[in-house]
Amino acid sequence: MKDILNKANRLMNTANNTVWNARRTKENVDSLNRANQNAKQRKESEKALEWKCSCGNKNTSKFCAGCGKAKPACPKCGAAVTGSKFCPDCGTAMDSE
Ligand SMILES: [Zn+2]
Ligand SMILES: [Zn+2]
Repeated sequence: MKDILNKANRLMNTANNTVWNARRTKENVDSLNRANQNAKQRKESEKALEWKCSCGNKNTSKFCAGCGKAKPACPKCGAAVTGSKFCPDCGTAMDSE
């Protein structure tokens, strides 16, 4: 009789574990989705930071992958200046090469 009770308890535990595992799996999927969303956002912000070097190469890094030139930045406020002759933040004229 005691054996049957033990068996029943084991079965209950297994059932509980299954529910728990299902919950864990959902949590994993949720965090995976969040990670994907973060990656997507990173990609979009990288695109916004894209700048075109005078050599014609498009870059998202601080230095041009084509010629090694530094990304153009405002000498006054340090804002990234991509292609325009004046700083979009403070209006400082950029050195034209
Ligand atoms: Zn370049
Ligand atoms: Zn500036």
